Amino acid sequence: MRILGIETSCDDTGVAIYDDIDGLIFNKVINQSKIHSRYGGVVPELAARQHNKNITLLLQDALKKVRYNSKYNLDAIAYTAGPGLISSLIVGATIASSLAFSINVPIILVNHMEAHLLSYMLNRKSINFPKFPFLGLLVSGGHTQLIISENKGEYKILGNTLDDSVGDTIDKIAQLLGINYPGGKNLSELAKQGTSGKFVFPRPMIHHKGFNFSFSGLKTYVTRIIKKHNDYSLLFRADIAKEFEETIVDTLLIKCKKALKLKKIKRLIIAGGVSANHLLRYKFKKMMSTIQNHELFLADINFCTDNAAMIALTGMLRFKGGNFLEPKIVIKPSWIISDLCKF
Ligand code: ATP
Ligand code: FE
Repeated sequence: MRILGIETSCDDTGVAIYDDIDGLIFNKVINQSKIHSRYGGVVPELAARQHNKNITLLLQDALKKVRYNSKYNLDAIAYTAGPGLISSLIVGATIASSLAFSINVPIILVNHMEAHLLSYMLNRKSINFPKFPFLGLLVSGGHTQLIISENKGEYKILGNTLDDSVGDTIDKIAQLLGINYPGGKNLSELAKQGTSGKFVFPRPMIHHKGFNFSFSGLKTYVTRIIKKHNDYSLLFRADIAKEFEETIVDTLLIKCKKALKLKKIKRLIIAGGVSANHLLRYKFKKMMSTIQNHELFLADINFCTDNAAMIALTGMLRFKGGNFLEPKIVIKPSWIISDLCKF
């Protein structure tokens, strides 16, 4: 069985083909960050225009891989139906449905956050869910969520950010430190040159009951310190980056540790762009290895940020579970992971 996946939820255009025997047989992403970085964030109108331009180039490449005797060897087309920017989602939805209609296959609506969550399966031989129940930490440009899953495809939200997402907070502080959007990766590189303990930032919400997050206070606190010092030396910026990165990782770690303990759960998936962070991966691996019988699931670094491989793979799982439709253009810009049905 072969599924073609299309990702256009934000500013990355992706196309991939996942085969249930051969695995990932095509996967390409065209990144637009250079275009948006001069504006300090994604400009929806520009993103949509770029998707329009890029998607046909990627599809032409992908379809060459699966065309035999003038027939496309595909069983269904999966695309990101939400959550995401309306103007970006509509490009993927339109092209996915048109293609599905023309080659007479069904479509699969994929939730972008479920796809992030399951992307750890892309570098495994067999595509299995962790034993239920498991906990998921979604850390990306638009989300900071702790979820719990007790059945295949069913998710309850345990905690959410009350204001900014962790990825957005990282990108804003990175920008103040002179790093182009999106700044997560380069902020982490800068932090490597800094010294621990030169600054001390508060870890937000760690003593609050429940599992919600808040990052806007931290963002204001760090912004004030940067502006007060008015120092653009590499050393100063690196020391700030170091403490900021440690604060973010510690905050996420403390919350997850508490959730694992209170909910008596032994398995944790961390997903989304921020899960590419080296310090986060190191500290979570260390924490999980010190608790007996606990298992951590992380995607390969290349699959942490937006890609269509995770859409094709999630599409395949949903397709096998009976979640497919006749081609029609459907988008769900505010689609929450807890609204998904089990399969
Ligand atoms: P969402 O998935 O919520 O819709 P998105 O798709 O825009 O949002 P992702 O592509 O999943 O977000 O993640 C992008 C975020 O990940 C950016 O904020 C980026 O700075 C951050 N990021 C990427 N690599 C790293 C890293 N190595 N360290 C920290 N943050 C990182
Ligand atoms: Fe994403």
